Amino acid sequence: MESRLSSRVRNITPSATVSMDAKTKAYMREGQPVINMSVGEPDFDTPVAVAFAGMQAIADGYTRYTPAAGSLDLRRAVARKLMTENQLSYAPEQIVLSSGAKHSLYYVFLCLCDPGDEVIFPAPYWVSYPEQIRLAGAVPVIVSCDERTGFKMTPDQLEAAITPKTKAVLLNSPSNPTGAVYSEEELRALGEVLLRHDVYLVTDEIYERLVYGVEHKSLPALVPELLSRSIVVNGFSKAFAMTGWRLGYVAAPPDIAKALTSLQSHASGSPSTISQHAALVAFDSFDPAMVHEFERRRDTLVAGLDALPGITCVLPDGAFYAFPNVSGLFGKTFHGSGPHSGKVLETADEVCEALLESEWVSTVPGGAFGSPQNIRLSYAVSYEEVEEALERIGRFVKSLK
Ligand code: PMP
Ligand code: GLU
Repeated sequence: MESRLSSRVRNITPSATVSMDAKTKAYMREGQPVINMSVGEPDFDTPVAVAFAGMQAIADGYTRYTPAAGSLDLRRAVARKLMTENQLSYAPEQIVLSSGAKHSLYYVFLCLCDPGDEVIFPAPYWVSYPEQIRLAGAVPVIVSCDERTGFKMTPDQLEAAITPKTKAVLLNSPSNPTGAVYSEEELRALGEVLLRHDVYLVTDEIYERLVYGVEHKSLPALVPELLSRSIVVNGFSKAFAMTGWRLGYVAAPPDIAKALTSLQSHASGSPSTISQHAALVAFDSFDPAMVHEFERRRDTLVAGLDALPGITCVLPDGAFYAFPNVSGLFGKTFHGSGPHSGKVLETADEVCEALLESEWVSTVPGGAFGSPQNIRLSYAVSYEEVEEALERIGRFVKSLK
């Protein structure tokens, strides 16, 4: 029988991060002692001032729609933030708030791309990029990067990937899943390439505040000639531990911001009014202690992983993920407990599954991020869980022969 599903969704795969989280939580409900390093969301609470502003908004009756692009107050606050923190000059009319940066990105691709247009981005990449680009009818053009360049795309690689069909180049720094942070020089060099071609730049800066000993820079601030064709994506989820509030934003040239607003006005309407009220105080509520704590966990986790035989792990400069290469474990037989005992582990998927079902450490296989030699561990779990996870992973690796 013909599929009753549209061709648009027929081949779509569920988000590996979201589905791994769901699987893990099901094990937790069964009472298994799982350490959940699969999904990427801060384990910190939303800052108290933000939470109270949300409750106050409900008490004060701010429970109706805002304009489709979001409230003018919050768009002004975002424009001010982009100017003071990122040296990016956008008017409030160029800001569009959506229900999470994931939502913002999807609308950006829908607004930019026609069928057959190409969007270039480096692998390893965040799981949702290729699917969102395909859903918009466009073609993901993936530039393979690995540990040799710190998982970063070089200007030569970018130049070689651009074709007459290229509509946009997508950058994510700090990166999910690698934690790679492009330096000012590296960004300027990529900017030089972009200046030579008539393409848009989409820059996903959602992890901008989670950097350790390096600085985050926004490419269009360094190469202002690109501003008229740059789209900056950011949100409240990571920096303010607000994943469940669902609020992200785009800063874009006026025509694109207008198209995004029209699309949103039909597709989903304005994002949550309550979340928008809460977010008004978020920029003043950032807690640097969260960054220090993430750095402490990163140092312990990465050093511990890198010391294990068969595993190598680059020290990430940002975000809250370790992305070790586990290909040194492939071909070994697992002798631990659980359903995988006696099996030869051939892939990162099998490594993740065996690790979960023997030692109850939940991670995400790198294939979902375009890097089948690696696995991703989120260190947005307590320091004690990081230590415990290392002990368990150590036991797991020891049981491979
Ligand atoms: N971009 C990247 C790179 C991410 O890791 C995430 C996390 N889900 C998002 C965008 C979207 O975040 P949210 O929708 O929660 O704002
Ligand atoms: N960005 C987080 C992650 O990669 C949250 C889950 C998702 O939206 O993909 O785990």
